[in-house]
Amino acid sequence: MNSDDPDQAERKMRFLYALRSKGVTDKRVLTAMEKIDRGAFVTGIFAERAYEDVPLPIACGQTISQPSVVGLMTQALDIGPRDKVLEVGTGSGYQAAILSVLARRVYTVDRHRMLVREAEAIFRELGLPNITARVVDGSFGLPEQAPFDKILVTAAAEDPPGPLLAQLRIGGIMVVPVGQSDHVQSLIKVRRGPSGYEYDELRAVRFVPLLEGIAQD
Ligand code: SAH
Repeated sequence: MNSDDPDQAERKMRFLYALRSKGVTDKRVLTAMEKIDRGAFVTGIFAERAYEDVPLPIACGQTISQPSVVGLMTQALDIGPRDKVLEVGTGSGYQAAILSVLARRVYTVDRHRMLVREAEAIFRELGLPNITARVVDGSFGLPEQAPFDKILVTAAAEDPPGPLLAQLRIGGIMVVPVGQSDHVQSLIKVRRGPSGYEYDELRAVRFVPLLEGIAQD
């Protein structure tokens, strides 16, 4: 966002106000979300709605998540500056960009090659060197980079995928929407302790489904 433009400055203020009023109160998360311009990740006819707190369509029939949900998920992960984070579901790349401001290293994966390529181009443009994007079926995680301090899944699974649970470091946190794709789902926070996993339900959400395999388009 160009903050010299008074309209843009006002939109930005409203954007941050909407985040706070929906429970995004962590200062580091708000600062990261102020820094990363959502407008860079939404193109075409929806670009003018980039600063509204709504999910919007992106390429390949997918969606960029609602900013307040992005903020709440990021906040729930409690990311520290030394964390290595895995995001499953790159989509537009917006969420990965926010994570990259807070974490040491971000791996983000998507089953659509085109989304990964486009997101990589934006990461380069914005100068975000600590994000690596890969085309893989993220239900299996990214074993060659595991374990991760934090894992964020931005597509709904029927259950938290086993390989992702296994790739979470002890002491780590995973946030994942769980439930059937055409229903309201629950956002679950999973903590891996020394002797098992603890599950907390955060709120109702609605995400596109976690699908199997690499997309063929
Ligand atoms: N985090 C994104 C929004 C994600 S939309 C953003 O900030 O814009 C969900 C994404 O999950 C879609 O891009 C979809 O292609 C991807 N996805 C669904 N199933 C997947 C799987 N098994 N592996 C990797 N990505 C998957």
